[in-house]
Amino acid sequence: MRVVATDRHEAHAPKAFIMRGNRVASPETPERAAIFHRAVVAGGHTLLDAKEHGVVPVAAIHAADYLAFLEHAWSEWSALPDHAPEILPNIHPGRNMAIHPTHIVGKAGHYQTDTACPIGPGTWTGARASADVAVTAADLVTSDGRPAYALCRPPGHHAYADQAGGFCFLNNSAIAAQRLRDGGAKRVTVLDVDVHHGNGTQGIFYRRNDVQTVSIHGDPHAYYPFYTGYSDEIGAGPGRGANLNLPLPRGTGDAGYLETLDTALTAIDAFKPDAVVVALGLDPSEKDPLAFLSVTTDGFRRIGERLGATPYPTLIVQEGGYICDALGDNLAAVLGGFETGRR
Ligand SMILES: [Zn+2]
Repeated sequence: MRVVATDRHEAHAPKAFIMRGNRVASPETPERAAIFHRAVVAGGHTLLDAKEHGVVPVAAIHAADYLAFLEHAWSEWSALPDHAPEILPNIHPGRNMAIHPTHIVGKAGHYQTDTACPIGPGTWTGARASADVAVTAADLVTSDGRPAYALCRPPGHHAYADQAGGFCFLNNSAIAAQRLRDGGAKRVTVLDVDVHHGNGTQGIFYRRNDVQTVSIHGDPHAYYPFYTGYSDEIGAGPGRGANLNLPLPRGTGDAGYLETLDTALTAIDAFKPDAVVVALGLDPSEKDPLAFLSVTTDGFRRIGERLGATPYPTLIVQEGGYICDALGDNLAAVLGGFETGRR
């Protein structure tokens, strides 16, 4: 498997987020990427450095005002007296507020959907690096149809066209899907297997019929992101029918997960994509610190095998999955399983 990576992501090192009212250490750390890196080296995969692609492929998905916010937020924030070491919103636009604020504290609430996407001095650099990884890997898949794995960090699938959220700033999977479209694929599917609903990706493509979005995730009645991820969200306008949500109950193990994956693959076959982006969260793991589902390492191997057995040019983009004993093994299991399935 070709693996694209960069160490430029290290510029983004979030410190904290709010969970159940507590300020806790962010699990989305640079060390995650180091664990993934060690796993792909140990697995004998081919490592390639990400190229710098500039803002054009990012701006094909994200709104110009949002990108300007991300680029300049830290300089505005750090000019405030007594500012914290990273930007966390303390007000969000509620149902009765429509003003687009100009002060950095107001803008933080406007552009950050939650408190799990703190912005520090290196966030813009790190998020851009992660997008570069996805774009470089997408170009490899476009060039020859062979699979590639984008070792992205920070993750992307909770980022909307104009909002950050859930550790995510730039939607790497969506940027990659658009890049594949621009490279000639007429129809692209994004299959999101992260334990959290891929709400940003769904939002970005919700009204489009050239990009199908399919997400398997923990039931949002009881799990982040709470407001999206329900099975009656099917797309709108021209995109009606091109979004599929497959929420799973807490504690679902390998058998239930694989059965649902088969449902997803049947829907993908019906869509007939020219390329598939797998938004690979490893947080369905039974051992994940944010655990909701109970997928084992062998379950990840079997997920990889089924994805590898599909006929589609495939780009695997790293999304969530947090530090635990099984994290590196689970990545190795998916990538190894994929290669077995493709043979
Ligand atoms: Zn996740």
